[in-house]
Parts: sequence; C-alpha cells; structure tokens
Amino acid sequence: MLLCNGDIFLSLFIMAEIESLQKIVSHCKEYGFIFPSSEIYDNLGAVYDYGPFGVELKNHIKEYWWKSMVQMHENIVGLDAAIFMHPTTWKASGHLDSFSDPLIDNKDSKKRYRADVLLEEKIDKLKEKGEKELTKKGIELSSSEEEKAKASRDYAKALQLETAYTKAAEASDFKRYKELIEEYEIACEVSGSRNWTDVRQFNLMFGTKMGAVDEMATELYLRPETAQGIFVNFLNVQKSARMKIPFGIAQIGKAFRNEIVARQFIFRMREFEQMEMQFFVRPGSELEWFKTWKETRMKWHLALGSSQDSLRFHVHEKLAHYANAAEDIQFKFPIGFKELEGIHSRTDFDLTEHQKFSGKKLQYFDAELNQNYVPYVIETSIGLDRMFLRIMSECLKEETLESGETRIVLNLPPALAPIKVAVLPLVKKDGLPEKAREILNVLKFVGRTFYEEKDAIGKRYRRMDAIGTPYCITVDHQTLEDNTVTLRVRDTMEQERINISEVARIVGEKVDMNNLLRKAIA
Ligand code: ATP
Repeated sequence: MLLCNGDIFLSLFIMAEIESLQKIVSHCKEYGFIFPSSEIYDNLGAVYDYGPFGVELKNHIKEYWWKSMVQMHENIVGLDAAIFMHPTTWKASGHLDSFSDPLIDNKDSKKRYRADVLLEEKIDKLKEKGEKELTKKGIELSSSEEEKAKASRDYAKALQLETAYTKAAEASDFKRYKELIEEYEIACEVSGSRNWTDVRQFNLMFGTKMGAVDEMATELYLRPETAQGIFVNFLNVQKSARMKIPFGIAQIGKAFRNEIVARQFIFRMREFEQMEMQFFVRPGSELEWFKTWKETRMKWHLALGSSQDSLRFHVHEKLAHYANAAEDIQFKFPIGFKELEGIHSRTDFDLTEHQKFSGKKLQYFDAELNQNYVPYVIETSIGLDRMFLRIMSECLKEETLESGETRIVLNLPPALAPIKVAVLPLVKKDGLPEKAREILNVLKFVGRTFYEEKDAIGKRYRRMDAIGTPYCITVDHQTLEDNTVTLRVRDTMEQERINISEVARIVGEKVDMNNLLRKAIA
C-alpha cells in the first residue's frame, strides 16, 4: 500500500517536470534554437543541432565565458586542441580503465537507469521530505545534520542511505548498490516495479579507427573531456606563452560520451561542448585556489541576473581518484537541482600520469623557490549545452498581460540575445522599407539585426519577444518627416520616440557584453 502511494506521488511529480521541460523543447524547435539531429530519419538519440537563433545564443555564451576567462585574466591563455588524441592519453588519464557508469535495467519496462543517480535522487528526495517534516515541527533548518536526523524520520533515513552509498561507491561495490536500491524500495518511474537486473559497468568512451586499411588502423577514442588536451600541451603552452605559475589554460570544444541515460533534452547529450579551464598552481596552495575559483565562478553565474535561490554549491561526498576537493555549481533546472559546472582540485594526478606514460618530464621550474615540481591543478568545467538549457529555463516566460492576453517572452540578458535589434517598417510601402533598410545598415555594426515587413506590427513584436530580441525599431510615416523612430523595449513593452542618430548608441550600450563582464569580475 505504501509503495502504491509513493508511486502515485512519483508519477505526478515527474509529469509536472516533464511538462515544463517539454515547453522548452517545443519552443526551441518552433523558434529555430534547437532541432533533434537527423530529424527526417526519426532523430538520433541524445544528439541535437542548433538552429539559426540557437547558434547565435550559443556563440554569445561562449563569448561571455571566453572573455571573462581569457581577456579578463592576463594569466590565462587559450588553446584549441584536436578531438583525436594519442590513445595512450586515455590509459594515462584513467579513462580506459575507469570511465564507466553503473547501469541497471528495470526488467518490466526495459528502461535503463544509472544506479548511482537512482540512489542520489533518493537521498535528495528523503532529505527534502525530511526538511518539510522539520518545518512543520518548527525546527531550524540550519541545525546540524545529526540534529535534523534526530527530529525527522525521513532525514535519518536519508543520512543512513547516504553513508551506505558513499561506502559502496568508495569500494566500487555495485552489488551493494543493487541491495540499497531494493532496501530503499526504489521503483521504476515507468513500470512502477522493483524488478531490477544486476548493476553492470559500462564504459562511456566512443571508439573509432584512424587509417585507411582496417587491419593497420589505430584504435582511437573521441575525447570524453577536453581537459586532457590541455594537460598534454602543458609545457608547449607554458613555454611559448611565457607563463609563470599560477596560470591557466582555457579551452572550448566538443566532447563525446556514450551516456546510458540520455533523455533530458540537451542536459545529457552524447555529443556536447565543454568550456574548461585548468589552473596550474604551486603544490600546497591548491585548496586556497579552489576556494577562489569557486567564488569567481559563482559570481560569473550570478552576473546573469539569476536569483541566489536557483544556484547552489554541492559538495562531492565521493571524490574521483584524481581529486582532493570537488564541488558542483548546481542550477534549479525544470528537472530539479542538477550539476551545471564542476570545480575540481585535480592534484598533480594528470601531469604525473602523462609523465609516467610518455616518459617526458612535465614539470615547472619555479625561479622564486629555485625548485622543479609538477604543478597542482584546479579545474573549472562547465557544459555549454547545459548552460544553454539553464538560460532557456531561466528566461523563457509566459506572461499574462493586463488585457488578459498571454505573451511568450524570452528575457535574455541583451548581451546574449541572438538578435540585438529588429527593424520593422510599419507598412510595406511609401518608402518605409527603404528607410528601414538604411537604419538596418547602420545597426549591423552594433550586432545581429533582423528585418521584417510582413504581418501586423503587434504580431511581429511577439515573434521578436519569443526569440529574445531586446529592442525593436519601428519606422513609420513620421520617420520620413522628422527622422524619428519608435524604440520598443522587449521586457517592459514601453515605446519611446527617438532620433535615428541616437539608435545605434542607445542599443549599442544596452547590448554590450562588457555590461556582463563588469558584473562578473567586479
Ligand atoms: P554528470 O554527473 O551530470 O554526468 P559529470 O560530473 O560527469 O556530469 P564532468 O565530467 O565534471 O561531468 O563534466 C563537466 C561538465 O560537462 C558538467 O558539469 C556538465 O555541465 C557537462 N557535461 C558532462 N556530461 C555531459 C553530457 N552528457 N551532456 C551535456 N553536458 C555534459
């Protein structure tokens, strides 16, 4: 009976989540942001194509990241390493032996899950339920975990499960994962049953071959992260750019993972992009730098105008074999709080391993200390596509206007908007289109523009709202008389009459990327 209640709750909860993610998916398709890959062949699972407005938004996100990392830090330089790397790279990095996820199947629905994710979600749900119990009893949520556990049955269960799960994860004891899934009555969201297979390990790297003759071809892997391209180039970059520790190397590029569970739109894809920065520091100073980078990255996220409630740090209970500290920045996606960016203190693991496998020294001579050492590394790693989804989740709004009408508006920070300004002649005659194009030609130097003369003006405004265009310029008959136009603001829908000579300056100031950068590094 209890299980039945739990299942009903679960399915309603998921329905609500899917509904709002579904709205984003539909909007992205209808308005040219994201299309399923190879749609005419019924799609390729967890692979997506960015459309005309998607690619613009994505490029602006990249620009915001790149400028804040590289342009704003004189001790960080860029790199664009190849996707193919020598296969030994993946032996050295540990990916060949241990880049795998524990998978489990539900025998009734045939749906596949990551066993670790099922357990982590259960812990979060129990904690959330526990906190509701505490709030009802009037107990402080700021009390210690032990105190909370004493006062709430669900909270105590969450902590028990967390301890057991951490122990099992540390020992890579997957038999225990299954026992815990059964013990804590975790059911499949589709069939509702607890009829599970054993947990198996599944390597996430995509293999391929390089070379014309099959028998002679070299087995390669599509990189599962961009970081290794930075590590193998550590000395090339340090020497050629004359960098002194502490310094960083930043890179944006594609990564590939044969994800087991990939059904949350662009949150988890098989081909995706990462924006990573590896910061090389003196051994012993890494935890101080870890703190600095955590703060710097959170500021970058908040500069976009997000509320503090939608972002939080999540401390890793189980550290990867190479890390001595790790935290995620999580965002409240429509599917719940999930990892958006990882900040990891990777010790000297990667450089040391590459030294071992390549037989080449990857050390730095610190003139101040008169000493050679393998630097320690702090990594900040964010998924570009996840960042895209975060922006969409945050900015896509359905507003009810005073008239009772609803409007869909994507209130993107103007610096990220795909189209900065649309120029719209009120009618398709009387010389208005010609005048509008004259204005457009000036505005092209401010950013991407859009011209449209079809449909009623209100309808054209709505289309621009839906793709996030912050400003529209309307050219009417008065324009021909006094050189003024109407500037219409997306967010407030306010309209103001201004002189044509003012348009480029006003719009240019508002859409300037520096507005974001100043907040991000203030
Ligand atoms: P997760 O736990 O969600 O699988 P991860 O911890 O494996 O993520 P990292 O290896 O730390 O992720 O990668 C850094 C960032 O790359 C993540 O924070 C995420 O934003 C992004 N990322 C990782 N895997 C994917 C994916 N399959 N699709 C889209 N973005 C991804």
